[in-house]
Amino acid sequence: MNDLEKVVALAKRRGFIFPGSEIYGGLSGTWDYGPLGVELKNNIKRVFWKSMVYERDDVVGVDAAILMNPKVWEASGHVEAFADPLVECKTCHERFRADQPEEIQKHESIHKGKKTEWTEPRKFNLLVEAKLGVVEDKKDKVYLRGEITQGVHVNFKNVLDSTRVQIPFGIAQIGKAFRNEITPGNFTFRSREFEQMELQFYVKPEKGESQKWYEYWKAERMKWYVSLGMDKKKLRFRQHEEGERAHYAKDAWDIEYDSSFGWKEFEGIHNRGDWDLSQHQKHSGVDMGYTDQESGHKFLPYIIETSGGVDRAALFFLINAYFEDKDRVVLKLHKKLAPFKVAIFPLLANKIELVKKARSVHSDLKTQLSELVAWDDRGNIGKRYFAQDEIGTPYCITIDFQTLADDTVTIRDRDSMKQERFKIKNLEKYFKKKFNH
Ligand code: ATP
Repeated sequence: MNDLEKVVALAKRRGFIFPGSEIYGGLSGTWDYGPLGVELKNNIKRVFWKSMVYERDDVVGVDAAILMNPKVWEASGHVEAFADPLVECKTCHERFRADQPEEIQKHESIHKGKKTEWTEPRKFNLLVEAKLGVVEDKKDKVYLRGEITQGVHVNFKNVLDSTRVQIPFGIAQIGKAFRNEITPGNFTFRSREFEQMELQFYVKPEKGESQKWYEYWKAERMKWYVSLGMDKKKLRFRQHEEGERAHYAKDAWDIEYDSSFGWKEFEGIHNRGDWDLSQHQKHSGVDMGYTDQESGHKFLPYIIETSGGVDRAALFFLINAYFEDKDRVVLKLHKKLAPFKVAIFPLLANKIELVKKARSVHSDLKTQLSELVAWDDRGNIGKRYFAQDEIGTPYCITIDFQTLADDTVTIRDRDSMKQERFKIKNLEKYFKKKFNH
């Protein structure tokens, strides 16, 4: 099995990710996150928000509606240009993206020997349509947002008028986006419903200024992934070529991960120029200009965007963390991302004093850390360690007979597998330091 297949199996087995609507045969391009998956995803979003909003003075957040006035998507160019080139196999009528040669080749290999005939490429719009309203024949067509970005730009004036931000500043947002992808696949990598975590950073339009911030955010975002444990050797930047760039982008670089299905993008850093603000100004008639408080000079800011996929990040964090040691599978997830931070075991499940003591350590740590703390009293200790290793729990605590005598426990480290004895009264301080509370 390759790294993706191993992670797919683990994700299902341990409750990270399930196929969407599975009992009804699924729905192509949708995935449901289970008890551990939702924690992993929430942790990614939590760390993103902390580093973007809480730790900075120049970024604020918003949470805009998924449903927007359809004029937004005309203004942003998505109705016209948010399309992928689609080709159809004339024999079996399956459709593929013309710009994905691997998929095309894979399909051609099915028709062994015979030459596959394809239709001419045509543009296929990715916006998902929905109907809104209560009277059947008077329902209005709306779109489920194809990117979360526009919800930020339509609120540019609202944020300016209601807060004290001054350029350069950014607006961060996390939320769902929807695309009618032609070929969803590679597990959650290409889905039809997914989550994005973004920063839209508004800067002066002068070339030097926008370039400076572009380079700054490129470096910051790469650093962020490395700080959360992504292997530097598996990451690279790739610049979009001239014909490849989205309709709004002046410059675009992707952060890519070296996976078993190739180097794949999971975050894009784009210089959107003044595309969005000038388009919304034109289509809505609302002045989107920004007046510099010192010089009185009025201008349309440029936008530097960092646009990451929460699901793709989660997938590559899982693949990056997956290791097979001699006799165990271990997810070496960064401590901040691990679903459970600590697991508590009574050495023996049938010794009432051990269980009582372990229960009290479990309940105290949960309150002290405000994090998920696992409990396991099944099977032997070795099996419990392996079960926690497989879901990435960084520390396991065992309550044994010595605990009853001197109030100490063993702490076992997931990665080194080393064990140390600690006083129960020092656990709170020890773990708060470990988890940076
Ligand atoms: P691709 O070329 O793979 O279709 P894109 O260049 O269209 O992606 P962007 O529009 O730049 O992607 O979106 C920003 C981020 O949103 C991507 O880097 C990715 O992490 C995430 N994303 C985009 N499309 C999907 C999808 N179909 N499924 C999951 N995540 C996605």
